[in-house]
Amino acid sequence: MSFLVMKFGGTSVANVERIRNVARHVKREIEAGNRVAVVVSAMAGVTNQLVAWVREASPLHDAREYDAIVATGEQVTAGLLAIVLQGMGITARSWQGWQIPILTDNAHGVARIKDVPGDKIRARLEQGEVAVITGFQGIEPERSRISTLGRGGSDTSAVAIAVAVKADLCDIYTDVDGVYTTDPRIVPRARRLPKVSYEEMLEMASLGSKVLQTRSVELAMVHRMRLRVLSSFAAPEAMQPARPETWDQIGTIICSEDEIVEQRIVSGIAYAKDEARVSLIRVEDRPGVAARIFGPLADTNINVDMIVQNTSSDGKHTDMTFTVQESDLERALDVLKVAKKDIGYFDVKSSSDVAKVSVIGVGMRSHAGVAAQMFKALAERGINILAITTSEIKISVLIDAAYAELAVRTLHALYGLDKD
Ligand code: ASP
Ligand code: MG
Repeated sequence: MSFLVMKFGGTSVANVERIRNVARHVKREIEAGNRVAVVVSAMAGVTNQLVAWVREASPLHDAREYDAIVATGEQVTAGLLAIVLQGMGITARSWQGWQIPILTDNAHGVARIKDVPGDKIRARLEQGEVAVITGFQGIEPERSRISTLGRGGSDTSAVAIAVAVKADLCDIYTDVDGVYTTDPRIVPRARRLPKVSYEEMLEMASLGSKVLQTRSVELAMVHRMRLRVLSSFAAPEAMQPARPETWDQIGTIICSEDEIVEQRIVSGIAYAKDEARVSLIRVEDRPGVAARIFGPLADTNINVDMIVQNTSSDGKHTDMTFTVQESDLERALDVLKVAKKDIGYFDVKSSSDVAKVSVIGVGMRSHAGVAAQMFKALAERGINILAITTSEIKISVLIDAAYAELAVRTLHALYGLDKD
């Protein structure tokens, strides 16, 4: 017998018929003797609609009321799934964040989970009852107000519940059947990865393969909670129930590096097109200038990603290039304009026609030459590199957006990821 958390996203619970399909997945596990807590998102599109209504009511709205409104989508799907399960003869009960309770801080709209006492739910599971839990929401205990965890937050709810009830596995059901070596829409020969390490998944999640909320992977990594990404659209009865001997046969398991026996240097290629480049031309080259550029950007909550500073040819001036999220570009340019005198630069240039392409793999820690191979392959295709950043397990390059697909395909083949 295993203790499972099964999480279903918005497209998997988009209407009552799909909720019935979800219930059949749950039934399969219960009949196999497993104990199940389910975490659900709102029906696809519902959270967007709720957010739109809040903004229509007032662009400068109260964050506590925003949460009171946007948390309702999950209340509906949790209740509906409990009803459908009961109709199938399965004992089930819905739970909202405050009932468990999922305790969060007071950063309404982007709250972080502080603590989840798991005893009550664990006891229900042990009795064979299915707990159907609202994703995305919690409670801020000081004022006893409903809070929400930020968009995509149900993944994080699922991991937090899994940790709290000491689950053996946290299954994330979604509309893809696993994590791929790259986006299969760009590279049809992309392969499903049977296992990915937490570290690799973190890089992939934050680099634009939007399978999981980054925070959920961080939380799973801290608690060594095994995650599995799998499709909810597969016929529920045709799927194997979760058993430790066979649970790595479907989907993708996200786990510790030492559980992965397959030797590979590069695990995946990620890309992000929502980047923008800013170049400051002829910045005065003196101590403190970087702080004067990036301080005001940080103060306005603009995340800077890649940074390149050219060496100064005359000892007095240099060019500084960096990237921000495309949606932050206008604000970043405003901030730089205001700070122009203080920073001291000649001109500012920007472009949002750029893309970031990244090669990810824990094997890079012990293998030299991965970067050199990458730069050579891109050069052979005539792709110019505008900026580079690296970490222990990742190399990212910024290139002209028009070449993004070509770069991804080239690198996918280069590192032997194409399926034969
Ligand atoms: N319903 C929320 C959203 O759309 C949370 C989630 O689906 O994970 O962001
Ligand atoms: Mg999601």
